[in-house]
Amino acid sequence: MSYTNNLPADFKQRLSCFGNFDVIVVGGGPAGIAAAVTAAESGHSVLLIERLGFCGGAAVAGLSGTICGLYMTVEDPERGRPEQIVFGFAERFRDALYREGGLTEPQIYGKTWVATHDCAKYKKVATNMLRGAGVTVLYHTQMIDVIAEDDELKGMVLHTKSGFTSVYARKVIDCSGDADVVYKLGLKTSKGNNGVIQNPTMMFKIGNVDMPKYLAYWGQNTISPPKVVSMLEARDELLRKKVWLFPTVNPGELLVNATKITGFDGRALDVTDPVDHTEAEQFSIYQAEAFFNFLKANVPGCEDAYFIDYATEVGVRQTRTIDGMAKLMNDDVVGKRKFSDSVVRSSWPIELHYGAKPKTEWLVEDYYEVPFHTLVPKVGKNVIVAGRCLSSEHEALASSRVTAQCFEYGRAAAIAADLSIREEKTFQALEGNQIAHLMK
Ligand SMILES: Cc1cc2nc3c(=O)[nH]c(=O)nc-3n(C[C@H](O)[C@H](O)[C@H](O)COP(=O)(O)OP(=O)(O)OC[C@H]3O[C@@H](n4cnc5c(N)ncnc54)[C@H](O)[C@@H]3O)c2cc1C
Repeated sequence: MSYTNNLPADFKQRLSCFGNFDVIVVGGGPAGIAAAVTAAESGHSVLLIERLGFCGGAAVAGLSGTICGLYMTVEDPERGRPEQIVFGFAERFRDALYREGGLTEPQIYGKTWVATHDCAKYKKVATNMLRGAGVTVLYHTQMIDVIAEDDELKGMVLHTKSGFTSVYARKVIDCSGDADVVYKLGLKTSKGNNGVIQNPTMMFKIGNVDMPKYLAYWGQNTISPPKVVSMLEARDELLRKKVWLFPTVNPGELLVNATKITGFDGRALDVTDPVDHTEAEQFSIYQAEAFFNFLKANVPGCEDAYFIDYATEVGVRQTRTIDGMAKLMNDDVVGKRKFSDSVVRSSWPIELHYGAKPKTEWLVEDYYEVPFHTLVPKVGKNVIVAGRCLSSEHEALASSRVTAQCFEYGRAAAIAADLSIREEKTFQALEGNQIAHLMK
């Protein structure tokens, strides 16, 4: 199916204008929250546009559920203590969430740790921060096109219940996850491994779990033990054979990351196509139900569990990535490469969701760094990205896309927007070392 990307120019010119801002942030996921708050706290007028009615992106709407990427990976977490290696906005959000009672203590995930968050508290913390920083927020509003002269971005067209409107900005931070702004501007993007991307997952929560009984069987590690993997391998109706289950802040509640979502015919889906996206949502219903039934029948402590709910929407790990001035390579990740213009560290494994078992390649006792210019498109003026659409090779993205790092990409992009306004420089002309220095 083909779709028309841009609206007619004369239509865009005739639109009434919602306003002019220093910075517009498109998308209110982890990257967008960090970008909007940081830019506003630098003294800029900031508009955040979000198609849903709350912030959090895949972390809340997709119920992805834990903050990954904060801690160092180690050989044996059961003998160690978590060492936090990412701070900045990620730490600020973690701390605020923890104080709200919306975050667990660190939990073992393979060779590292994660902390599971509560979506209601996540929404409140994001709202507090955005309101506190004075960000103008438009929910239930979708960015549907850009207003540009050649490759110079000037503004964008928004679609709301009351109709279309235009809005203008000096700088735009594309935190849509899908690189929607970059794509609409006609700049180069790519998808995964020659178009093959990681599978989506429908997350869900269950309640009334007998937690001591469950933990005695499953163990402290949130990744499925071998005895569960063996059972899953014998079940044709369950497409995923290695799963993660996280106890939440609420008593007797488990967050379940266990489905592999394909088309009904088994094909890999590209959720930027609404036909595939719809099929992902529908196929999810049956995979989640099948896995819930498996838990009840086979996992001690889950016998009397009930199904709380699906995520608001299927969780999307990967769509478009930009063609950036720098690209995070697979070798940079496995080689734990450091950069002088680094904006964040990561010790998170390559967690590649493709095939029956997600591939996890651990980066033990070390980390790699992500260079600033992975956020900057090679061409195109006034736009920078933050979040999971950074310029990255396929496997590298399967590590670099998680929440703690996305918060820091958002902060880096906002610092860059501030500098670019103050020094009247393009994003391409900014010194990555200077951004890295300002992030400290
Ligand atoms: C199933 C699943 C499980 C995961 N588990 C974990 C985990 O346990 N821990 C972890 O740290 N990470 C996890 N992740 C990854 C993490 O959730 C994402 O990497 C992170 O949310 C990406 O943040 P982001 O801000 O780049 O994009 P997103 O979270 O995708 O946010 C993008 C936002 O932009 C909005 N948007 C998009 N297009 C437009 C538009 N045109 N106009 C207006 N708004 C728009 C969307 O509604 C969304 O709110 C998981 C992801 C998935 C899918």
